[in-house]
Amino acid sequence: MSRIRGGNTKPERLVRSMLHSMGYRFRLHRKDLPGRPDIVLPGRRTVVLVHGCYWHRHPGCRFAYTPKSNIDFWNAKFAENVKRDQRQYNQLRELGWAVITVWECETKELTTLAERLSSEIPAPSGPPGWGTSRSSGDTASR
Ligand SMILES: [Zn+2]
Repeated sequence: MSRIRGGNTKPERLVRSMLHSMGYRFRLHRKDLPGRPDIVLPGRRTVVLVHGCYWHRHPGCRFAYTPKSNIDFWNAKFAENVKRDQRQYNQLRELGWAVITVWECETKELTTLAERLSSEIPAPSGPPGWGTSRSSGDTASR
């Protein structure tokens, strides 16, 4: 297994800093969720998965090309990845999480991606005011 996995890949860093600059608060690689999702926005009950187009087989994407040799080997490997992604997606959905997949090639068009994220990330859940204040309900003052 020589797959690069779970590291701080460049597309993931881009998406992270974008979300950060948009004011979203998130956690990384939450171990208690299926597949240790890259980016988790707990206040929005949303998971953002950053997928490399090649390894995760972005449908119709020019980066998801097939190598010219060992085709069977690679196809089996790719199928495995896609299956794992699908399973992770389903498990997260079952747990009530919104799942947004960002493809590596989308991180080359940051403006478009920012628009997409802000329209797809749901509004904060929870009681009114949740996530807008840093205080933990202790707003009483003398
Ligand atoms: Zn792509």
